[in-house]
Amino acid sequence: MASQNHQLHFLLLPMMSQSHLIPFTEMAKLLAHRGLTVTILITPLNAVRYNKIIDYAKNFNLKIQFLSVPFPCKEAGLPEGCENRDSLPSPDLVPNFFKAGNMLQFPLEKWLQELDVESKPSCIVSDLCLPWTYDLSLRFKIPRIIFHGVSCFTLFCSHSISQSHYKVLESVTSDSESFSVPDIPDKIEFTKAQLPEIRQDLKPLLEKFKEAELSAEGVVVNTFEELEPAYVEGYRKVVKKIWCIGPLSLCSTNGTSSYEHHHESLKWLDSKKQSSVLYVCFGSLCQFLTQQLIELGLGLEASDHPFIWVVREGDCSIELNKWLVEEKFEERVQGRGLVVRGWAPQVLILSHPAIGGFLTHCGWNSTLEGVSAGVPMICWPMFAEQFYNEKLIVQVLRIGVRVGVEVCVNWGDEEKLGVMVKREDIEKAVKKLMDEGDGEGEERRERARQVGKMAKRAVEGGSSYLNMTLLIQHVMELVNKNDAEN
Ligand code: UDP
Repeated sequence: MASQNHQLHFLLLPMMSQSHLIPFTEMAKLLAHRGLTVTILITPLNAVRYNKIIDYAKNFNLKIQFLSVPFPCKEAGLPEGCENRDSLPSPDLVPNFFKAGNMLQFPLEKWLQELDVESKPSCIVSDLCLPWTYDLSLRFKIPRIIFHGVSCFTLFCSHSISQSHYKVLESVTSDSESFSVPDIPDKIEFTKAQLPEIRQDLKPLLEKFKEAELSAEGVVVNTFEELEPAYVEGYRKVVKKIWCIGPLSLCSTNGTSSYEHHHESLKWLDSKKQSSVLYVCFGSLCQFLTQQLIELGLGLEASDHPFIWVVREGDCSIELNKWLVEEKFEERVQGRGLVVRGWAPQVLILSHPAIGGFLTHCGWNSTLEGVSAGVPMICWPMFAEQFYNEKLIVQVLRIGVRVGVEVCVNWGDEEKLGVMVKREDIEKAVKKLMDEGDGEGEERRERARQVGKMAKRAVEGGSSYLNMTLLIQHVMELVNKNDAEN
C-alpha cells in the first residue's frame, strides 16, 4: 500500500486556446506550489508563448514540465503554424481545429505507454473540450477530473435548460422573445438569439462533452464559492464532486515577465487619477468589423473619460489604422486615451489603482479578472457563454451595466449583422459606469470592491485554498485505493 505522502503527479490537458491555456498554466503553478509534479500538454508554438511558466518554475524550484507534442495541422487540414485558436484565419476552420485537438490523443497514448510506472500521472485534469480523455483515463486507469473555465452560474443555467428537455423553449415563438430559465435561484431571462448551445447543430457535440463530464471523478471550476454560492450548490448536485479553486488569475502577477511589468500602458496609468480610467478589451477571439471599431472609438471619445483601448492584432486593419492615425483619432484623444495594438498585460492593467471600470466582452477569464480587481464592468457580450456572464454581472452580482447587445454574433456573422452598438449607447454606458457623484454608480462600485476583496480572501487561505487542499486529498485517496487494489 502506498504511503500517505505518495508523490502526486497531475497531467493537465488544456485546449490550445488562450482562454484555456492561461487558467491551466495558473492551475499548474498552484498545484506545484503544493509540492506536486505537474505536466502540461502543449504544442511547440504554444510552448514558446507560454515558456514564462517554465522560468517561473525554475525561479520557485517547482516541478512543472511541458509535454510538447506536434499539433497535427496538416493532417487536420489547418494551415501550418495554426496551433492556437486565436491564429485561425477563418471560421470555416473551427471544426478542423477541434479535429486536430482530438488527434492529440495518439501522441499522448504513446507517451503514457512508454512511461515507467513511477512516472505515471496520478490524475488527469482535462479540458471539457477534449472528451477523448475519457477513453484515455479508462485505458490507463488514471482518475480524470474535468476543468471548467466558465462560472457555476453558466453551468447551472445551461443544465436547467437542458434538464427541462428544452421544453421551456417550446412556447417561444421567435428568437427575440424572452423566456425564464427554469428551477434556478434567480429570475433570469434570455432569448434564443443569445444562447448558442440551443443551436441544433451544436447539440451532439455538447452531449458528448456532458457525457465526458458526468463520468469524471468531479469538476474543478475557475470560480470561488462566495461569488455565486447558490449556483455552486446547485451544480454540486449535478456532478460527482466540485472544487472551486479560483480566481486562478490571482496567482498570475508573480509570474508575469518583466516585459509585461514595463508595458507602456502601466507607465501611462501611473499618471492618472485613482479609479478614473476605463479599460476596454475584448479577449483573444472576438472579431469586429472596422466600422464597429470606429463607432466604439467615437463613443469612447464622446464619453470624455480616460481610457485604454486594446485592439487585437487581427482587428488592426489598414483601414482602422488609417482612421486611428491619419484621421487623427489618436491625436484628438492624446493624453486621455491610449490605444494598445496587439496583446496587453490585462491582469496587471486591471489591478492598477487608476483603473475604474472595464468594458468587456464577458469572456469568463476577463469577467473573473474584473471581479478580482474589484472594478465595475460594462458588458458587451458577443458569443459562447458570454450572455450568461452578462446576466451574472448585471443582475445577480449587480456590479455592471449593459451596453445593450441583444444577439449573439458568431464568428463570420459580423458582416451580416453590421454595426450593432452605436456610439451614443457606448457613451451612455461609459458615463453611467464612470461618472462620479451618481448614487447608484457609487453603490455598484462599492459592491465591485467588496467582491474583489472576497476573491482575494478565497485564494489567500479561504475557500479556494481549502478546495485545492480537498482536491489534492481526494486524488491522494483515489491513488491509495488503486494501489491497494493492485
Ligand atoms: N488577454 C490578455 N491581453 C489581451 C487580451 C486578452 O491578457 O490583450 C487575456 C485575458 O486577461 C484573459 C484571456 O486573455 O485571461 C481572455 O480570456 P476570456 O475568457 O476573457 O475571453 P476569450 O479570449 O475566450 O474570448
